Amino acid sequence: MLATTIKGLVKRLVKPKPGQVERIAKNEHGIDRSRVSRHAIKVCESLQQKGFDAYIVGGAVRDLIIGLEPKDFDVATNATPEQIKPLFRRARIIGRRFQLVHVVFGQEIIETSTFRAPASDGHMTDDHGRILRDNVFGSQQQDAERRDFTINALYYDPVTETVIDFHRGVRDLRKGLVRMIGDPALRYREDPIRMLRAVRFAVKLKGKIDTASQAPIAELADLLSNVPASRVFDEMLKLLTCGQAMACVKQLRTYGLHSGLLPLLDVILEDPEGQAFIELALERTDKRIRIGKSVSPSFLFAALLWPQVRSQWERLCADGELRIPALIQAADQVLDAQTEKLAINRRFSSDMRDIWFMQPRFERRVPRAIYRLFEQPRFRAAVDFMQMRAACNEVDSVLAQWWMDLADGNDETRSEMIAALANEPKEAGSANKRRRRPRRRKPADGAAAPRGDV
Ligand code: ATP
Ligand code: MG
Repeated sequence: MLATTIKGLVKRLVKPKPGQVERIAKNEHGIDRSRVSRHAIKVCESLQQKGFDAYIVGGAVRDLIIGLEPKDFDVATNATPEQIKPLFRRARIIGRRFQLVHVVFGQEIIETSTFRAPASDGHMTDDHGRILRDNVFGSQQQDAERRDFTINALYYDPVTETVIDFHRGVRDLRKGLVRMIGDPALRYREDPIRMLRAVRFAVKLKGKIDTASQAPIAELADLLSNVPASRVFDEMLKLLTCGQAMACVKQLRTYGLHSGLLPLLDVILEDPEGQAFIELALERTDKRIRIGKSVSPSFLFAALLWPQVRSQWERLCADGELRIPALIQAADQVLDAQTEKLAINRRFSSDMRDIWFMQPRFERRVPRAIYRLFEQPRFRAAVDFMQMRAACNEVDSVLAQWWMDLADGNDETRSEMIAALANEPKEAGSANKRRRRPRRRKPADGAAAPRGDV
């Protein structure tokens, strides 16, 4: 009894107050140093040898503590970009507003930034409180304060193997709590993207957004329409490729973060016809990410927008438009509507079109057309896309498998497959079934010669 009371008392005395820095030792945070990028360690060591403070920071520390593989490693230091750059053979200063240094080691880039002061110190904001400029160097404590969530404000010193925690982030991490640093409403106003990040991290931790950080979201969700479309696109892409896209999308809906602001999500969640296709696309994406395969953004967005493109396409065909021009028109209409809110990069949208436009061409298996399709750079993606359509009974699955086998085969099997087609009955959409254009009538008086005779 006495022992438990003393234990409780000691715990209370030792328990740091919010805002008080905690130094967490290896046996408590459990980071396995062998999983830390040796290049990030090298950057910290080099800076420390010159007398600077330097830590691995942000998402990498969070992921290492919960045993996930970090995507990349960032370093934060009290050295300025001019002091950092000369310490490394390949380093370049980037950014205009807030400069930071990219230290390059072969394929790996360690983003190294100087501690930054929080937004309260005379930063420019727009009418809604969104920060427009944020470029003041600060102390480590200030740097922690300007980060979004407590779980993202952890500093790992790879030399002493200590984690520095200003906001009790390790505790939140263990509880699966996404907690905003500072006043949540103010911080969402400063940068509404943080609402989307909160959802993504809650799903990632299989946890939740803490009550106070959750509360203002419903009211502030509209502020997302105020954020530059390219940032929304980048965050959406992160969300859709985090390996748990479906869970994220469902959570966004719970928080009212989907409607109106992100037309893409309106489509995903509110169009029952397209739902099956989109769920399949997200499931496949999640699976690929989990087994470490890459996902192409063009493929993903082509899939997400397909139900809309398809229904528009069908409508235009029903109105008498020819299939291919109708598809081109449908794609334009859907992409125009989306890019207003969600800046789909031009490179992605041109790949998306390629994937879509190959779909009707798969219906026509004549040797020359097959070889022409095969040479298209997005052929493989378009064939994969066709598999999803087949899984949703949109196209014949035997035909979809034929194209898959063709894509997977070698030159010899390919020519055999194409040669074998000659023995198959002609299929819908093949050359002899194409709709003929009506013949042009000759002018009655014969005055105008046919083209080519001129
Ligand atoms: P992941 O890379 O898995 O998406 P991350 O936490 O590393 O997660 P990044 O966008 O790479 O996210 O940002 C690195 C760090 O920068 C974050 O951990 C956080 O400390 C800080 N940060 C990023 N975006 C914001 C933001 N909008 N507001 C405040 N701090 C941010
Ligand atoms: Mg990161």
